[in-house]
Amino acid sequence: MNTIHKLIFSLFLFTVLIVALHWQFGEKKRYQISPSEFAFLATNDQVQNGASVSSIEQNGKAVALNCELKASEDYPWPYCGVSIKYDEHDPSKGFDFSDYHTVRLDVDFINLDGGAKPALRFYLRNFNSAYSTTENEYTFKYNGLDYRQADYNQVLEIPLNNMQVMTWWLVDNQISIEHAGPEFSNVNRIEFATGSGTAQGRYQLKINSIEFVGHYIDGESLLFSLLILWVTLAMVFSGLEIRNSRLKIAHYEVRRKHLKSLNRKLTEQNIEFAEQANRDALTGAMNRHAVRSWLETQFNCRESLDEPLAIIYLDIDHFKRVNDLYGHKMGDDILREFTMVTMAELRATDRLVRWGGEEFVIFCASTSLKQAAMLAERLRQKIELYPWMHGEVLTASLGVTQLEDETVLDMVARADELLYVAKHSGRNRVEINGM
Ligand code: GH3
Ligand code: MG
Ligand code: MG
Repeated sequence: MNTIHKLIFSLFLFTVLIVALHWQFGEKKRYQISPSEFAFLATNDQVQNGASVSSIEQNGKAVALNCELKASEDYPWPYCGVSIKYDEHDPSKGFDFSDYHTVRLDVDFINLDGGAKPALRFYLRNFNSAYSTTENEYTFKYNGLDYRQADYNQVLEIPLNNMQVMTWWLVDNQISIEHAGPEFSNVNRIEFATGSGTAQGRYQLKINSIEFVGHYIDGESLLFSLLILWVTLAMVFSGLEIRNSRLKIAHYEVRRKHLKSLNRKLTEQNIEFAEQANRDALTGAMNRHAVRSWLETQFNCRESLDEPLAIIYLDIDHFKRVNDLYGHKMGDDILREFTMVTMAELRATDRLVRWGGEEFVIFCASTSLKQAAMLAERLRQKIELYPWMHGEVLTASLGVTQLEDETVLDMVARADELLYVAKHSGRNRVEINGM
């Protein structure tokens, strides 16, 4: 798998993980309105000269409102209710419920006289200095809902989306259109009140719990962020790809120039070598014929000086593959380059002979087996590290031996056997006779 595949795969896993986590835990943001933190106050129509009476009674975590609705001549719409204040002293302070989507009400509303089930109003009052003043409670926005629950034993879930701003409040306060929608960013009061048209009588409103439920992050924002993440990474990746391509083009341009000049050099060298009958026409290395006379002089010297003669048999590894992959012409060019690179490592007294194909024999006069072995290892390393013109690593296997009491051809045959051992031991290595 290349990097991009790995990246896409990790991003995919990350996305699945985030979506799964959101699905599992994203909804778990909760906020409980408890009487220990908030002031629960009884309200009634007495402020409007009505006659209803109400009082609050706290019972552990539950709060009960006892209410007696009485009609009065001065105020024909009796009501009572509960007002839960976020901050008793500063009404401009409120709770931000924008991240919540549902309010869960566990509320019992009982007609103590046993009459019809009454209706309830539920309000989230929002303070916004654009339309509210701290002096006048009536300017706090009424986000509300009028409901009559069939079964008060069940918890009622109200999506905040379903709450509406009361029209009478909009009209009375001359609210502009931009502020006419439901708003929960600064809720300073949570209120319950008896519904319109509730008959006179005694009622009890028991508030067991009020809980707001929200997402840590809502689904839409999450998907949008993931989308942004994908798009950003796609852009970063494209940018990097473009940069890489430019670098590669620049690199190939340098290489192309290098190859061009190298090729010219090699051709020139070749022409020069081809003129000499002692040279191999393709590579310019010595041919077998030429080395024979050199050896004769060498033998004479050896007998008189008792100097050693060592040889290195050298064969390029998997050269057939170079021809197969890059063509015979490239194979020829590499053989020339190979000769040049090898020759550069040799001393003036050494002789490089193209023994055939991609096989070479280096004759090292006055050289011990140990010295020849060191030269062979140096050559092996150089060949492996050299930037060959086809752009790939090239290696060679080498056999090193020394002239014993035998003919030169016997010695070459022994070096060939060592080479065979090197090939079979994994190539790119030097095998030395008796070491
Ligand atoms: P290995 O030595 O590692 O066992 O593998 P190899 O592929 O190098 O050996 P093999 O002896 O099977 O093949 C040698 C190849 O060298 C065969 C031939 O295509 C190639 N070759 C020999 N002489 C020349 C030449 O003058 N020019 C080109 N281009 N290729 C040559
Ligand atoms: Mg060969
Ligand atoms: Mg070979």
